[in-house]
Amino acid sequence: MTVKKITKADFTDLIEKVIASQKVYAPQAKGDKYDFAPLTSAGDMKLDYDVTLQPPKKYFIPPVETLLTFEVGGGYQSQFDEEKFVLLGVHPYDMVAINQIDKLFSDGHFDNHYMNRRTNATIIALDVVNASKNVFASEIGTATVKQGYDLLLTDIGDAYIAEAATEKGAALLAGANAADATDDDLAKKQKVQSDNELSLSKHLLKCPASDLPKLLEKAYDHPVWEEQAETCFACGSCNQVCPTCYCFNVQDDVNWDMKTGERKRAWDGCMLDGFTKCAPDHEFRKNRADRFRHRLFRKGKYVPYKLGGEIACVGCGRCVGACLPDIANPVNVYNRLFDDLGNG
Ligand code: SF4
Ligand code: SF4
Repeated sequence: MTVKKITKADFTDLIEKVIASQKVYAPQAKGDKYDFAPLTSAGDMKLDYDVTLQPPKKYFIPPVETLLTFEVGGGYQSQFDEEKFVLLGVHPYDMVAINQIDKLFSDGHFDNHYMNRRTNATIIALDVVNASKNVFASEIGTATVKQGYDLLLTDIGDAYIAEAATEKGAALLAGANAADATDDDLAKKQKVQSDNELSLSKHLLKCPASDLPKLLEKAYDHPVWEEQAETCFACGSCNQVCPTCYCFNVQDDVNWDMKTGERKRAWDGCMLDGFTKCAPDHEFRKNRADRFRHRLFRKGKYVPYKLGGEIACVGCGRCVGACLPDIANPVNVYNRLFDDLGNG
């Protein structure tokens, strides 16, 4: 593992060089908010951002993608995105979400389209500098991350500490004007991470996150689902902004020539009406309360059972800000359940 100290000016120069040879996506200002977007000038990257509107999952699972083209009654051709790219500035909680989706899309049914993009990506993770107003990553244990990235940057004030975790990360760092990190630099990095592990806690969970699956075992018939769903618009915003939501719909579109077509997949969400519609016109979660419960069961129970206990909410807080009636915050619901059922 290579660990270097690189001044901010030298890091900007490095990224300017990288932009000249491959696509780079990085957080940039969007009005008074931030979002990941293609970077055309290193001066536009905002590495002190608090949170992005959308998580970086869109670079691995695009909102709409063509899986294959086909001839009606004939053969088909799978379509793969082969472009190599650098994804810069991924906060630890978003990195944890990508690590989770990596496991879910490679265990059992191996998703070539997703995994191809993962292989083509070089991820530069970044420890949080400014906490967003709704982040609760410290409550979940996702305020820092130890794996998944190629390079990890930690802002220590006058410079970044850059830790290369893979050959791709080391190769990228080799192009920089950087010095070996000293013990003093490493202590500063450790301090940033230790502080974040405690301070990214704008909403406090009343129980350890690891207890959520057990708590939800008792909560299937709790009135909270109906109560919250009374004001839910079923807009799906909480799904769309969530870094751990990956559900999609697949549809075949036949072209006007009636001979060729494309199979596409597009984001879908469990909060949307029609998500569970199947033949013959049956919808098994038609009720908004059922969908509201499913979203929080999936994050706190179903996926953790698949991933050895990992909670499928990484505490980014995006759904809290995206929900107009202010009912999407998982912490509020889990705390209500803990108050009512936690000691039973
Ligand atoms: S449920 Fe909300 S806070 Fe948790 S990861 Fe998804 S968007 Fe972030
Ligand atoms: S919980 Fe909020 S964001 Fe989610 S579907 Fe309902 S209204 Fe929309």
